[in-house]
Amino acid sequence: MSIQLDFRTLSLTLMLFSIVFGLGMFAYSREHPKFFGIKTIGLGYFLIGGGCVLLGLRHFIHDFASIVISNLAIIMGVVLTYRGLFRFLGISLPLERWLSPALLMLLASVLYFYTFHTPDLIPRIQAFSTAFAIASFIGAYGLLQHSDIRSRMVVKMLIGMFLLVGAFFVFRLLWSFYQLAPDDFMNAGLLSSLAVIAGEFLVILSSFATIWMASDELQDELSEMARVDPLTGVYNRRAFDECCEIEFSRALRSGSSFAIIMCDLDHFKKVNDQHGHHVGDEVLRRFAGILKSRVRQHDVVARFGGEEFVLLLANNNTDQGAHVAEDLRAKTAATQIAIPPNTDLTVSASFGVAQYCAGDRDWSAVLHRADNALYAAKKQGRDRVVVVASA
Ligand code: GH3
Ligand code: MG
Ligand code: MG
Repeated sequence: MSIQLDFRTLSLTLMLFSIVFGLGMFAYSREHPKFFGIKTIGLGYFLIGGGCVLLGLRHFIHDFASIVISNLAIIMGVVLTYRGLFRFLGISLPLERWLSPALLMLLASVLYFYTFHTPDLIPRIQAFSTAFAIASFIGAYGLLQHSDIRSRMVVKMLIGMFLLVGAFFVFRLLWSFYQLAPDDFMNAGLLSSLAVIAGEFLVILSSFATIWMASDELQDELSEMARVDPLTGVYNRRAFDECCEIEFSRALRSGSSFAIIMCDLDHFKKVNDQHGHHVGDEVLRRFAGILKSRVRQHDVVARFGGEEFVLLLANNNTDQGAHVAEDLRAKTAATQIAIPPNTDLTVSASFGVAQYCAGDRDWSAVLHRADNALYAAKKQGRDRVVVVASA
């Protein structure tokens, strides 16, 4: 039993894959314009498909088109495929900007020379294999550049694909030195057929990976949206709970402390009643902005509900927490919120501060103490900070 890998049939399937997947990429990028690089990948597939069409028209069209242009189009298609992937992933590879054009120019000269000056198929196969291998290795190299990107499963798959395809063309190049020139390129043996399969492999796998990466990003975006309060842009209660859980485990493990500040705008109902709900919303946004502006990057600001906000200060105790809360109180009271046409509004807020203490069963014990302190601040007349003395 023998497997028949007919070169022409395989080229036809590669052409079909490239055109269908190329169209798919264009349609996808129209639907999702926020992703960069997908159109470039689609264009790459078109070039690979177009190159195959020209290759298949050998003896029917001029050799310049069926040999020189077709081979160049396929390599350019590979270049655009990895360029699109780089763009999608935000990879910049300055070296590649001149390396790819140089590679294509060199390939064009060699193909032209061995087609019209000294017609010889073997050096043409060698030049094409070398260019394909170099292009594949550039693709793998670019993806390997960034440690945060290369650790992703889908990127590992792409790197494996480029390395495998590159290795195949190196093998094909080496083998060609022992190969007799075939009479007809269309019947040039198993390796030529495998080269077409390598092209199919590249198109199918890279398109699959692109859609995989896009769906990962959309998924990340959705989970981020589920964690953020749409009005103020700070975290919501759910995200705050998750952060507290992590901070509580860290405190248990390392004996570090953390502080929680609960705060609530004073007489906020009056703001709504006197100026309208939209002004109330603007006050909430400005207050959230004040809270965010004062904390460190790894601290967490969240809207607990209504006009109540909460802060998680990692590695802080009540002394530091009280200092932050007092700053926030003063800044809130000093901020004038302009209400068109000619009103300046000032608001105040009350704050309760507590810290984690050894023996706390969970983080909500700290939250509960901070809430009691906030309640005390309200009772004592508002616009003040009340701190729970740490044990
Ligand atoms: P206190 O000083 O005791 O905290 O009094 P307060 O008026 O701030 O508190 P109260 O709980 O009586 O009223 C809170 C108000 O916050 C009532 C509610 O309409 C308003 N509020 C809650 N969420 C929103 C929101 O998303 N936008 C606006 N504009 N108002 C909101
Ligand atoms: Mg209030
Ligand atoms: Mg309230």
